[in-house]
Amino acid sequence: MAQPTEGRAPAYIDTTKASIARVYDYALGGKDNYEVDRETIERVRKIAPEVNQLAVDNRAFLIRAARFVATQTSITQYLDCGSGLPTAENTHQIVQRLQPEARVVYVDNDPTVIAHGRALLEDNEFTRFSSADIRDPAAVVSDPAVQGFLDLDQPVALFHIGTIHHFDDSDRPQKVMADFVDRLAPGSVVAIAHFFDPENADSDLARRMEQVFVHSPMGSGRFRTRAEIEDLFPGLEMVDPGIVPCFEWWPDGPQLRTEDPVQRCIVGGVGIKR
Ligand code: SAM
Repeated sequence: MAQPTEGRAPAYIDTTKASIARVYDYALGGKDNYEVDRETIERVRKIAPEVNQLAVDNRAFLIRAARFVATQTSITQYLDCGSGLPTAENTHQIVQRLQPEARVVYVDNDPTVIAHGRALLEDNEFTRFSSADIRDPAAVVSDPAVQGFLDLDQPVALFHIGTIHHFDDSDRPQKVMADFVDRLAPGSVVAIAHFFDPENADSDLARRMEQVFVHSPMGSGRFRTRAEIEDLFPGLEMVDPGIVPCFEWWPDGPQLRTEDPVQRCIVGGVGIKR
């Protein structure tokens, strides 16, 4: 499929502004993106040639975390906040392969995702789509796509993968997550992947990428510290090995290649509410 061109963009898409979902799509090698989206990644590539690896490791973490929940817990309900554009393996495909009747609700407010991703994501009776703002837990859980479909008195897997680093500090991300966790039943699982400032020799790279992302047409991408990311899992018991670079969270096999420094600038973790 050819990449969409600005001249042929549908009216609901503003091709003068980058979209987080389309920038991420470009970084993953997808086709649903425009020049303004590609520019964000190309600017970061000047200081971090392997910038795409941030997206690749983030997505691979999502896939492994989803498989973990489906195989190692009895949870059969998933609330995937900031689902993004459909890609090769989406949450419902991963978990419904293992648990055919697992219920999945995707939440994303990007116009491109709402307009054409929605139909692809909501492709069976056990998946739904909501366009709520994921910074507003009350709006998410009261959305018609969630109400009467997920039973919040039973454990849920809440995914916030590659989302919270797009929240500004003024969005009070730690408070947002505390509010989400309060609404979850005991036994629920929270999985988060987040851009990371390792506060060591790689810190300079993290902060330089942050500066480019924040001042790019996308306008967001905070690299938070370990303490800031730990606070996104309030009161949760962390599953081993805790918060680690995404590529190190239960990889599919031994690491034979030397990792690129950007791979140490995105972490993932899974916590359980007891
Ligand atoms: N979770 C997917 C993954 O890890 O592969 C996609 C991550 S993508 C980087 C982040 C997604 O979050 C985008 O599709 C964006 O539209 C969505 N998003 C960001 N802020 C949001 C908000 N306030 N409300 C709803 N969706 C949001």
